[in-house]
Amino acid sequence: MTTRKRSFWTWGFEADEPTEAQRAEFAARYSKRVGHEIKPPPIPKIDDIALRASRVAVPSKLSDWISTDKFDRVVHTYGGHGLELLAAMRGRFDNPPDAVAHPRTEDELEATLEWCQDKGHVAIPYGGGTSVVWGVNVPAQTDAAVTIDLDGLNRVIEVDETSRAARIQAGMLGPDLEDYLRPLGFTLRHFPQSFPWSTLGGWIATRSGGHYATNHTHIDDFVESVRMLTPAGWWESRRLPGSGAGPSPDRLVIGSEGTLGIISEAWMRIQKRPTFRATAGVLFDAWPVAFEATRRVVQAKLWPANLRLLDPTEAGRAAGLDGTQAILIIGFESSDVPQGAFVREAVAIARDAGGKIDDAAIRISDGSGEVTGRGGAVGAWRDSFIGVNAGLTNGLGLLSDTFETAITWDKWPEFDRVVRERVGRALKEVLGDSAMLSCRFTHVYTDGPAPYYSFSGDAALGSELEQWREIKAAASEAVIAAGGTITHHHAVGRMHRPGYDKQRPELFAAALRAVKTRLDPRGILNPGVLID
Ligand SMILES: Cc1cc2nc3c(=O)[nH]c(=O)nc-3n(C[C@H](O)[C@H](O)[C@H](O)COP(=O)(O)OP(=O)(O)OC[C@H]3O[C@@H](n4cnc5c(N)ncnc54)[C@H](O)[C@@H]3O)c2cc1C
Repeated sequence: MTTRKRSFWTWGFEADEPTEAQRAEFAARYSKRVGHEIKPPPIPKIDDIALRASRVAVPSKLSDWISTDKFDRVVHTYGGHGLELLAAMRGRFDNPPDAVAHPRTEDELEATLEWCQDKGHVAIPYGGGTSVVWGVNVPAQTDAAVTIDLDGLNRVIEVDETSRAARIQAGMLGPDLEDYLRPLGFTLRHFPQSFPWSTLGGWIATRSGGHYATNHTHIDDFVESVRMLTPAGWWESRRLPGSGAGPSPDRLVIGSEGTLGIISEAWMRIQKRPTFRATAGVLFDAWPVAFEATRRVVQAKLWPANLRLLDPTEAGRAAGLDGTQAILIIGFESSDVPQGAFVREAVAIARDAGGKIDDAAIRISDGSGEVTGRGGAVGAWRDSFIGVNAGLTNGLGLLSDTFETAITWDKWPEFDRVVRERVGRALKEVLGDSAMLSCRFTHVYTDGPAPYYSFSGDAALGSELEQWREIKAAASEAVIAAGGTITHHHAVGRMHRPGYDKQRPELFAAALRAVKTRLDPRGILNPGVLID
């Protein structure tokens, strides 16, 4: 199991951190682009960080797994949003948790939550800390807060090969889980971009989306049953392949973002590893033609594993194209069935809609397990997706972020127009000519796409937070006004609360508050997330 130390100023582990030299080299290239010299701030040192004294006294019987250690409190202060990493880079840890718990058994988890409950300490469940929506921070105005890191509950307990399901503890990281299942010939097949650093419990709590574009890709699809500790007791659902018995208890847990309880383990549906693969990258000269082709492919219900559409800007930035063409990346895979016929069918539909690809560029493997998505524009895009590294840019004044949503096809073209117009205007006002806005579809449904917009530009050093706030407000307002969801897979956290409050029915909000009151009467679990 992973025992590496997490980085406290960038994504991932200390081993993922770029060096000062790599940061300097990147800064030199960036300086050339912006036309003046920018020196990267020095990487912060833990000894230089001033931390508020802990406001809790850990009882001796809990001190084996709960500590007020400085590094532990620092590393659990933030999630993975760019502005959090920026604050960390600047050595600002103004509101750390007062203690961090690492329960190794469910008994220790119970004792931790009981202590928080008795004392009224806020309790923040924590998986890999990759939340990009301010889901793991200590809320302001809190008397004392304890972060409960599930990293001690990190094993596969049981595999049921007959039903193809595995009982997995919540704190298990993505790579550890796949390392366990691989020799058995299985996979969970859930790969969010943050896969190396995030956990099963975090995925369930945030309804995360994997990087497959159609069909089963959300964690929701894989949950067979869940076990969760609430301040009112244990909540455990029955293992069932399906059930029509009233509203699903699992549906309330999935997406509860640490506000109703702490997920300790789940039975998850697993599957055989793919051996047949096929890949094609189809080019389009115009964005409307490209998204129309994507709609036609998905509505043919061929269920490609990947159907990722990049607009010309995104294709230029991430797939090495010249910025004038969109690319539709089509990928198929199966453990048992050759995929050649399916990819040819999808390519025929895309060509018929105006797409271009040579037959020789369609890659099909023969069941040997050979991968087909390497090299060319498709491979370039894959490498940039997997190699994402916030540590290089952190602190240089380059403001970049993303917002993701979903919208039905009937509204999509107008939605895209409105979002680009409003967000483009805000970007121009705030970041001037350096601003860039691009879009890709991360997931595609028969009734609509999940567009994922990226923006970036040169911010005024020291004003990044205010500048970001203006752009983010414009983006959130545009998305909600044009009929989309405030988040498709990044979750609500504290960041998306205003949009979430507008989107959900008020009676549902009241019902959720009632559930929260029953399960967590003192309101200690992750206050400010989803509900007050
Ligand atoms: C570079 C990057 C790429 C990303 N790509 C994707 C992506 O492709 N798809 C996607 O869906 N998301 C993505 N995210 C967002 C994030 O990774 C997901 O929300 C992920 O599911 C969080 O998992 P985690 O283990 O890190 O949870 P954390 O960040 O630790 O926690 C997230 C939320 O879940 C709660 N929580 C965590 N564990 C538990 C538990 N055991 N019980 C109850 N509540 C719990 C926390 O309180 C918090 O509210 C990305 C983030 C980054 C930084």
